[in-house]
Amino acid sequence: MIVLDLCCDQDHRFEGWFASASAFEDQQARNLVSCPVCASTALRRLPSAPYVHTRGPASTPPPPAQTEAPASASSPAVAAEVRQLLRHMSRTAENVGERLPEEARRIHYGETEARDIRGQASAEELEALLDEGIMVLPLPPPEDDLH
Ligand SMILES: [Zn+2]
Repeated sequence: MIVLDLCCDQDHRFEGWFASASAFEDQQARNLVSCPVCASTALRRLPSAPYVHTRGPASTPPPPAQTEAPASASSPAVAAEVRQLLRHMSRTAENVGERLPEEARRIHYGETEARDIRGQASAEELEALLDEGIMVLPLPPPEDDLH
């Protein structure tokens, strides 16, 4: 996933999450990307530099990040929800460490209690799990696990 800074023709700035830059261009070409504030599809990418100067004083402050604005697939609200969900999962899931592939299989095949687990697995192991139809998701590192 990449995060792009976008701006509509009304100068509303927002973030969009896309699989890649070309995915954004493709969606934009089909008018699938719209401003969460005014729904305009006349969007342009802003340079992803840490500082971008806008003209004059901020007469139109950026909208609050999480409002009850209608969610579309590319809206920042959805991205935030996904991040929150992943964070929640990474906190509540049982840490099974390196037994992750083994436990995931046992849960998948009903040999043990179904629950959310997390842990470590190599890329090969994850691929094997996915091949077997077992859902595995990359999680952000949980903050409370760093020490
Ligand atoms: Zn707008």
